[in-house]
Amino acid sequence: MSTASLMSVPRGRPTVSFELYPPRTPAGAAAAWETVERLADAAPDFFSVTYGASGSSRDASREVVRRILAETTVTPIAHLTCVDATREELRRLVGELVDEGVRDFLALRGDPPAGQPRWVPQPGGLNRASELVALIREVEQERLGGTGLSIAVAAYPAGASHTRAQDVASLVEKQEAGADFAITQVFYDASAYVDLVVEARAAAVHLPVVAGIIPMTDPRRLARLAELTGVPVPAALVEQLTVAVDDDERHRVGVAATVRLVEEVVAAGAPGLHVFTFNQHRPALDVVERLRRPLIPARPSTRTSR
Ligand code: FAD
Repeated sequence: MSTASLMSVPRGRPTVSFELYPPRTPAGAAAAWETVERLADAAPDFFSVTYGASGSSRDASREVVRRILAETTVTPIAHLTCVDATREELRRLVGELVDEGVRDFLALRGDPPAGQPRWVPQPGGLNRASELVALIREVEQERLGGTGLSIAVAAYPAGASHTRAQDVASLVEKQEAGADFAITQVFYDASAYVDLVVEARAAAVHLPVVAGIIPMTDPRRLARLAELTGVPVPAALVEQLTVAVDDDERHRVGVAATVRLVEEVVAAGAPGLHVFTFNQHRPALDVVERLRRPLIPARPSTRTSR
């Protein structure tokens, strides 16, 4: 996919993309890269690579982005957060990434560090994802003369930590700052996605809203994700996964539930599906495989220019 096409996600069919996580240890790097290669074989529209709070995980994240650029034909989106960095440090980092060939970013505020319940901006740092979007646009102006970067932002269909009004106000700010599209946090009910999009459109948000999808195959992972995101897993789904007789049946049940959700959001007009892989290729690929025939016609190989 060319960089330009990431700037306006909707194109006749929903995009399919995968979120990747930098390996936690050097020993985990080989396995993580094997997962990237398996996922790349499915010719996704893009990968996105998460960005942690520690220096080592940030280095690992950058290394994964570099390798995707160098060794695959898939476009990488580099996640960035405002956590623990001054404006100048972020400006330098974005400039370095642009120099390395990165053209696509996911601009986030980030979560407060563990043990700190409320967000406190770093002195001299940024307070909101919208400010990071604006900063990336400044770097784009300086380095590339004003065009060439795509910027995604986060959106939240479900969860109790903010109100819908705050979520929509936040999307308005991000759009005004120069975002190109949004990717949602996990949700389990298509109506939550649809309601967010309807309310965002009513507030003049025209950003395409790509649906973030977790393959619902592993109840322990879903429970951890609920702790992280504040989005509860439906009790009926937990029950179905728990009573499954073995891992194979659990996998089948989870993939089927995920495919049902995806079909509902696609029917409602979702322009893309971003699969949170947690570096497990099989659930992600099985979901995509089940969806591909009806959704995605054969496509030529990806990156065209950089
Ligand atoms: P913002 O949009 O800046 O919002 C922060 C808070 O301010 C929210 O409570 C919001 O409701 C509120 N707010 C913003 N604007 C307004 C307004 N105008 N009026 C009222 N309230 C407002 N975190 C990581 O650390 N690394 C990652 O790689 C990462 N990847 C992610 C990928 C996706 C697809 C998603 C959905 C989230 C990801 N996150 C990641 C989590 C994210 O950093 C957290 O959810 C964080 O708490 C909020 O980030 P944000 O960019 O949405 O913040």
